[in-house]
Amino acid sequence: MAGRVTFTMIKPDAVRNGHIGNILKMIGDAGFKIRAMKYTRMTADQAGQFYEVHKERPFYGELVDFMSSGPIVAAILEKDNAVEAFRTLIGATNPAQAAEGTIRKAYATSIGENAVHGSDSDENALIEGDFHFSRLERF
Ligand code: ATP
Ligand code: MG
Repeated sequence: MAGRVTFTMIKPDAVRNGHIGNILKMIGDAGFKIRAMKYTRMTADQAGQFYEVHKERPFYGELVDFMSSGPIVAAILEKDNAVEAFRTLIGATNPAQAAEGTIRKAYATSIGENAVHGSDSDENALIEGDFHFSRLERF
């Protein structure tokens, strides 16, 4: 059975471009409840660890530099079938292929700087939530 939580980050590009409020509105309007949230910045080591599954990919260095380049908003979100529902809301990795009405269509600038992260499985949603939040930071 699909889980009820997913994990997201509003990435440094969207924070720099002033889109935090609009993105949180889209998330709330889509019916997601916020279970945990923080404004924080990952070190390069932390970003490297977070995206470790991609370490053999050619864009890994660029991804780590970008994700540690400024503050992010990290959050645990809850909704039925959360992982899939949130991936639908954010749209394709490449904004050129993102559907109308998605967060990436509205706010991503490139395949690398694509405004938001969304977990790709229930298992990774739990791992990624645990990466950023302690038990006491969840409500
Ligand atoms: P995320 O995991 O951030 O939600 P995603 O699941 O849509 O994104 P992944 O394949 O997991 O996409 O890639 C992780 C991130 O790596 C992408 O969001 C993007 O920032 C970056 N990335 C992916 N492919 C490329 C590429 N070809 N060139 C540059 N950066 C890329
Ligand atoms: Mg991914």
